[in-house]
Amino acid sequence: MIKIVQISLENEMDLILAHKRSRKVAEKLGLTIATQTTFVTAVSEIVRMVIEYTDRGNLEIGLEQNNFRYSLKALVSYDSDVKLNSKDDGFYYAQKLVPEFGIKEKDGKSEIEIKIGIPRSLQLNQHKIQLLAEFFLSEPPINPYEEIKIRNLSLHKIAGEQEEELRRSKIIDEKKNEFISIASHELKTPITIIKAYTQLVKASEGQFSDRIRGFLDKIDHQTTKLVSLVQQLLDVSKIENGSMVYAIEKTELNPFIMEMVSVMKNILPHHEVIINLPKEINVQIDRLRMEQVFSNLIGNAAKYSGKNTQIKIEVFQEDEKFVKIAVNDQGIGMSEDSVKSIFNKFYRDKDVLTTHSGLGMGLYIASKIICDHGGAIWVESESGTGSTFFFTIPCE
Ligand code: ADP
Repeated sequence: MIKIVQISLENEMDLILAHKRSRKVAEKLGLTIATQTTFVTAVSEIVRMVIEYTDRGNLEIGLEQNNFRYSLKALVSYDSDVKLNSKDDGFYYAQKLVPEFGIKEKDGKSEIEIKIGIPRSLQLNQHKIQLLAEFFLSEPPINPYEEIKIRNLSLHKIAGEQEEELRRSKIIDEKKNEFISIASHELKTPITIIKAYTQLVKASEGQFSDRIRGFLDKIDHQTTKLVSLVQQLLDVSKIENGSMVYAIEKTELNPFIMEMVSVMKNILPHHEVIINLPKEINVQIDRLRMEQVFSNLIGNAAKYSGKNTQIKIEVFQEDEKFVKIAVNDQGIGMSEDSVKSIFNKFYRDKDVLTTHSGLGMGLYIASKIICDHGGAIWVESESGTGSTFFFTIPCE
């Protein structure tokens, strides 16, 4: 059937729509007044019954071609749970009116079909049917009820499309995460082996020229970078899968920071790291994950500031429940836009895209770790004058 009109049948107002629309279709086809009335009355009788007994029916009016003859057809469908039969009042009457009447069950739906043949003299053809369909597509609503119905329908359609879009992007996201997870696992093993052999060679008794030793140092340094990148990729996929696990333990904060900073000082020889600690505080942290947060913030402080500038780490007892830690640098700072987006996955300030290497994962991971500890993380920064990253962690 080539569909011309469709009306969902929910309440009595739809009976008016069905009546008016079926009349209009019959009239536009050029049927006689008597045939129009016959068709409209039959459609209305069926629709009235369906509306009376169900609240989720559907009416379609269209044209069907059979051996060069066209028929005007109305198809009313409703849930099969509602048992109606051709002897029921309205159906019985409709059957008497039209030459073809059928009732059947299909895919859990009951369908009633009526047909009236179109006289050949009306010279109906595909082109005319197309024009008719277009006419009804652009027909204005018959009454405010239909207007609201059409709007509801299009809202429903948009909501459906958005749901579908969301479902599709979720699948793509899942595939991407799976890929990141597999790729980083596959990368981790060879990189770890390269690093281990480089260190073995460096530690061996062999006689190397300074040049070769320089090369080995470079390989070692770059593989360390690669290991940390791959680790970040793995962490991102863990965050996305919701599979980050924490081993929270009571930790004395001051020695923890001192130890970490002394290790970091070796890697950052061009910066002066100043620490300002209060009286001893015990915190509840996953030590390895918290080391990751500190090394990301201190590493960034060094990376995004000039040589021989200061990096200041300060700890404040906020209240009984939290300590606040500030990591301050005298570096390039960042724009207001960046301050808002800096903790988003893969975000990088446009000013550093070509000047500093990185993937924009560190702060995203750090913020997740802090949030999972029940704390908060934020930044205060101004372009050109440096940045201070703050975060809070729970204390004993
Ligand atoms: P990456 O450094 O690998 O790009 P991060 O997630 O650690 O990833 O940082 C995200 C972005 O935040 C950086 O690209 C940079 O634009 C900005 N940023 C981070 N720390 C600082 C800082 N201390 N000073 C200025 N910009 C920073």
